Amino acid sequence: MELTSEIGWNFKNSYARLPRRFFAEQHPTPVQLPKLIILNKRLAESLGLNAERLESEEGTAVFAGNKLPEGAFPLAQAYAGHQFGHFTMLGDGRAVLIGEQITPTDDRFDIQLKGAGRTPYSRGGDGRAGLGPMLREYIISESMHALGIPTTRSLAVVTTGEPIYRETELPGAILTRVASSHLRVGTFEFAAQWGKEGQLQALADYAIDRHFPDISEEYNKYFLFFRHVVERQAKLIAKWQLIGFIHGVMNTDNMTISGETIDYGPCAFMDEYDPETVFSSIDRQGRYAYGNQPGIGQWNLARFAESLLPLFHKKQEKAVEMAKEVLSYYAEVYDRHLLTGMRAKLGLFHAKEQDEALIRNLLVIMEKNRADYTNTFKALTFELFDEMDLFKTREFQEWQKQWKARLNEQKQSKAEVKQLMKNNNPAVIPRNHRVEAALEAAVEKEDYSVMERLLEVLSNPYAHTFEQEAYSTVPPPSHYPYRTFCGT
Ligand code: AMP
Ligand code: MG
Repeated sequence: MELTSEIGWNFKNSYARLPRRFFAEQHPTPVQLPKLIILNKRLAESLGLNAERLESEEGTAVFAGNKLPEGAFPLAQAYAGHQFGHFTMLGDGRAVLIGEQITPTDDRFDIQLKGAGRTPYSRGGDGRAGLGPMLREYIISESMHALGIPTTRSLAVVTTGEPIYRETELPGAILTRVASSHLRVGTFEFAAQWGKEGQLQALADYAIDRHFPDISEEYNKYFLFFRHVVERQAKLIAKWQLIGFIHGVMNTDNMTISGETIDYGPCAFMDEYDPETVFSSIDRQGRYAYGNQPGIGQWNLARFAESLLPLFHKKQEKAVEMAKEVLSYYAEVYDRHLLTGMRAKLGLFHAKEQDEALIRNLLVIMEKNRADYTNTFKALTFELFDEMDLFKTREFQEWQKQWKARLNEQKQSKAEVKQLMKNNNPAVIPRNHRVEAALEAAVEKEDYSVMERLLEVLSNPYAHTFEQEAYSTVPPPSHYPYRTFCGT
């Protein structure tokens, strides 16, 4: 078919070969008047797609779910999950996986339309998404990628020409999400709870094949698989902490096997350093607060372990023991990555005993002085000690002496220290007020220029350019308390 050769779609559909229990064949529901709002050309090219062609009517029709590329096998995935601690059956309620794109470098990526209409897993939902939330996911996920954090990507957003109804009427939209897979902890919980004989193992074999092919011949491969996922999640969450990212809804269905960040709903970046920071309007208990994220990651992985237990060992006691060992390994990997990352943020090349205390003390002073997380580290990098009130306090000046002394203990030059810090302390993050301004212009005025400028600035966060300066100012006080919403 013309479409495939011109645009470059190259689908293989391995997920569709899993037992039927794991998905429902589901075509996207066509929409009235699709319009391309934004296309990620660089991502398109890396997927082997012709960006120019994607901008045509054909491309838009695919992003809208009105047309399917040759080789597509549209489906909605089944999964379960612990949402705020409670187990439920879920599944793609508004997302359709249209195929797995094989790239010119032979990598495989899910191409999924989010907001593509109702599926058997929609429960009461309309299967649709709003323009604002989909653009928000686009901006934040692409920014996370630029910050060096594993994440699903955003290929395009189209509007549907149909309104959706939330608290108010919103323009409907569809996001094309790209992921190294959409396998979740919740997919395994689903298999363990409702899978028939052998189906859990089939899913594990599939995940190993897709993400950890190196271990597929090992005799204890399911245990190694668990260990690898634990490692990836520990590293991922350490990266979130280092950058001040708050996911907001760390349910087990929003936790990938690949170790990519997924599901940009109520997420937001922390401004003032405070471990109790929560943005999500529905997280009243603060379960998913910044400071709780590492522990919740471990809790989620314990649910993952419970699902996999029968594959670890015939004897349940032994299997539980094995799982426990790996869960303490999670804490070890997390601590190691956090500490290494924090050292780099402070220009420290090698580990020393006193580093943990040095880091902890800085964070205590930051919290007490309500210091902006990102800007504190940026100011330390450039030694801009006039910029924040924090730096005028005696406690900071005491701390600074210790830091200087510690820096002097290493052989690296000042320039090397500064470079390390520049590479680890971003000039910009997607500040909530900036993101809001971009979305408002887009949704209210169909003016996409604010968003495009923001995306440009965020695309190279460690560059520390002059233009980025304007984007690093903290939100005005009127912006607090900032709230994000799940009902997207
Ligand atoms: P989330 O909070 O985005 O992780 O979504 C939780 C579950 O609700 C997932 O199974 C989604 O597919 C489903 N869901 C979210 N929004 C909708 C919607 N508008 N229509 C149908 N299902 C939805
Ligand atoms: Mg989700």
